[in-house]
Amino acid sequence: MLVCDNCKAEFSLAPVDILSNRVQLKGQDYIIRYFVCPKCNRVYVFLFLKFEDLGIILSRENIHTQYQMALKCKNVALSKRLFGRYDSLGKLLEDHMRKELSNFPNGFVYDKAAKIISYREK
Ligand SMILES: [Zn+2]
Repeated sequence: MLVCDNCKAEFSLAPVDILSNRVQLKGQDYIIRYFVCPKCNRVYVFLFLKFEDLGIILSRENIHTQYQMALKCKNVALSKRLFGRYDSLGKLLEDHMRKELSNFPNGFVYDKAAKIISYREK
């Protein structure tokens, strides 16, 4: 169960409620993953990256698959090395996300009827 910071409504989240879009904001292509409070429409963003970071996201997922295989084969040295790469790419993406989100300090708004996300000017 989640509680909305804004209106204190309680709601649960099905995977189908998580929205994933490619959007263009301020002339940049972004990948955004978010959900919306069903009561007040507050937008919660948990992934926000430039579209060009998709390559990093995909190679990180690929490394994770290799890591799980190395674990299964009990290859400790390889699994440690793969986890290190997985972890450092995660930190890189977190840095990128923090930087990109700082361009939208007032957050985002969601138009339920049109199913469009945009940013708040002020
Ligand atoms: Zn709310």
